[in-house]
Amino acid sequence: MKGYVFHAPGQSTWQELPDPAIEDPADVIVRVDAVTICGTDLHILKGDVPEVRPGTVLGHEAVGEIVETGTDVRTVRPGDRVLVSCISACGRCGYCREGMYGQCRGGGGWILGHLIDGTQAEYVRVPHADLSVHPLPGAVANEDAVLLADIFPTAYEVGVLNGRVRPGDTVVVVGAGPVGLAAIATARLFGPERVVAVDRAASRLQAAKEFGAEAVADAGEDPEQLIADLTGGLGADVVIEAVGLPETFELCTRVVRPGGHLANVGVHGASATLHLEDLWIRNVTITTGLVDTHSTPTLLRMAAAGRLPTRQLVTHTFPLDHMQEAYDVFGNAAETGALKVVLG
Ligand code: NAD
Ligand code: ZN
Repeated sequence: MKGYVFHAPGQSTWQELPDPAIEDPADVIVRVDAVTICGTDLHILKGDVPEVRPGTVLGHEAVGEIVETGTDVRTVRPGDRVLVSCISACGRCGYCREGMYGQCRGGGGWILGHLIDGTQAEYVRVPHADLSVHPLPGAVANEDAVLLADIFPTAYEVGVLNGRVRPGDTVVVVGAGPVGLAAIATARLFGPERVVAVDRAASRLQAAKEFGAEAVADAGEDPEQLIADLTGGLGADVVIEAVGLPETFELCTRVVRPGGHLANVGVHGASATLHLEDLWIRNVTITTGLVDTHSTPTLLRMAAAGRLPTRQLVTHTFPLDHMQEAYDVFGNAAETGALKVVLG
């Protein structure tokens, strides 16, 4: 088969590889029919994620067909169309039983394309398949389903559910990339009074409006003033950080109201300053988290019912073997306008 292999920072190739094989009775082999590229893959290629070993096949989002199952697999069989979750977890340990699959201590907690080979290939081995692949309803097309592998569960679980969005809330989403846009869309399912998006790119602010943000603010102008004006000076009920920079996290701490929730989704390479001397007395709740994908079955039902704007995120499509071209387009989003690219 062919797959996209990370060799060293700045070096990766779409190349011939041995087909993956069942290594454990809980594994399945999936033929990849649709796959996408994530901002995390760009971080790995830059060398920001040193634990990814040279020779690893990248990718952690895919849809495909089961071609082989290990003898312990119960929930899927060859021929089934499935969504491959970005997290592979045992489903039995204490963490898994609480839905915290990302923290699995039962030999899982794997992020595909990170410590084990991933989905940017013609075939992928998925460990702990009973929990880690989801049969797909026929109504959900590949291009929609592939966005439920990581982007939508991340935005929904780590942003909207951790942030406890409620009807009537003012929700601020800082960062209108794919994750922020999915946070806007899933926050709206709870009937907030308004969603305000903050970004520094005009094209992303335009996309935020199309995803349902009532107000948008350029990060370089005065988002704090806009949010104060909209909330009678109080601040937002829920603030979702979807960038991953110290300054955007610190902005979030300033625009959340007393008693409000700040849900951090962004992956931070550098530490933000946490002004606890100000936050404690304002009763601000701060949450962080790695996506668990416990919400994937719910999101699949929502997608089947046509309630998620998944396709709106797909700006470019390519055949699978145009992987390098797809990386070039995705990696240069400022010029290409790419939100998500789908191959298959
Ligand atoms: P992205 O890079 O595509 O989008 C980030 C957005 O932030 C862009 O629109 C950019 O214009 C905007 N931005 C950059 N600097 C800004 C600033 N100073 N002020 C305001 N806006 C600014 O990223 P994405 O794919 O949407 O992911 C968002 C974050 O979520 C990333 O940090 C990613 O690593 C993280 N993530 C977390 C998890 C998790 O499990 N917690 C999972 C997936 C992704
Ligand atoms: Zn587990």
